[in-house]
Amino acid sequence: MTAPHPETWLKVTPAGLFCEPGGFFIDPTRAVDRAVISHGHSDHARPGHAHVLATAETLAIMSARMGEGRAGVSQQALRFGETLDVNGVRLWLRPAGHVLGSAQVCLEWRGARVVVSGDYKRRPDPTAAGFEPEPCDVFVTEATFALPVFRHPPPEAEIARLLRSVALFPERTHVVGCYSLGKCQRLAAMLRQAGWEAPIHLHGAHVALCRTYEALGIPLGPLRTATVAKKEDLKGAIVLAPPSAIADRWARRLAEPVVCNASGWMRVRQRAKQGGVELPLVISDHADWDELLATAEEVQAPEVWVTHGREDALIHALGQRGIRGRALHLVGRGEEDEGEAPGEAAA
Ligand SMILES: [Zn+2]
Repeated sequence: MTAPHPETWLKVTPAGLFCEPGGFFIDPTRAVDRAVISHGHSDHARPGHAHVLATAETLAIMSARMGEGRAGVSQQALRFGETLDVNGVRLWLRPAGHVLGSAQVCLEWRGARVVVSGDYKRRPDPTAAGFEPEPCDVFVTEATFALPVFRHPPPEAEIARLLRSVALFPERTHVVGCYSLGKCQRLAAMLRQAGWEAPIHLHGAHVALCRTYEALGIPLGPLRTATVAKKEDLKGAIVLAPPSAIADRWARRLAEPVVCNASGWMRVRQRAKQGGVELPLVISDHADWDELLATAEEVQAPEVWVTHGREDALIHALGQRGIRGRALHLVGRGEEDEGEAPGEAAA
């Protein structure tokens, strides 16, 4: 008996990807009865589901962001490597390396295996378990940076550039634009790895999730809330702030700020210029072009479904490698982290 094609049981619906035999959605775009959530970014984790299954870290992040009770009436934590049977569908989670708790959702039904990667990256990140490839029949991938122009440099080299600039301009404040879930904590942890021991100052919007990370066992070193009123104290300091704050009046009140931004989009010089970014740092929590292709080959899937971003180029490149690509056209993705180019997010 040949296995039923995953197209016949894992369906694109207005609420998102639906596993029909299992009766659950993966990262649904609206409140549903049963949801499996890959990670805590708001375009994947929405409030109001009746039942939520995710890693314990993702559940904690969702509760911290949405408030107790809004992150699922009932919550079920699944550890990496643990397997569940949901109405005959085998379900397990594998690390996706994107942010703390981020998981690929692996499903097997009647002999066919699908892996829904969620957002993922392949570079080491001291704040997230590393991506683990899972061989499958269908791999569902993101495509945020799916153009050959997007090749991320080693993140350590970007952190070193930041620290060189801080050493060069000791009278100025370096304010680094970064998203509040994942990028902010990864930058803090990487600065510690690079030997930066001084307090790291946080915009108020970043404080709560840093505390959540610390409570989940990720040390970030001494953190302070950045008060622009204390201009003097912030000379020579590093401040982490939301991307929307760095070009804003808030940042202009800092001591001669060096405006930095940490994002895969900073690979495009024009983007940095438009955003008034003096020191662009190409640090991404998403796979780059080479990593998207390498991952597709590594999981040995004859078929890859592409959820959001630049599907066409990726599907074409996969075809050249004998892999069938399919655009999934899921709605409502790319509203948080680097899914949207800076400046487009608010539109
Ligand atoms: Zn994400």
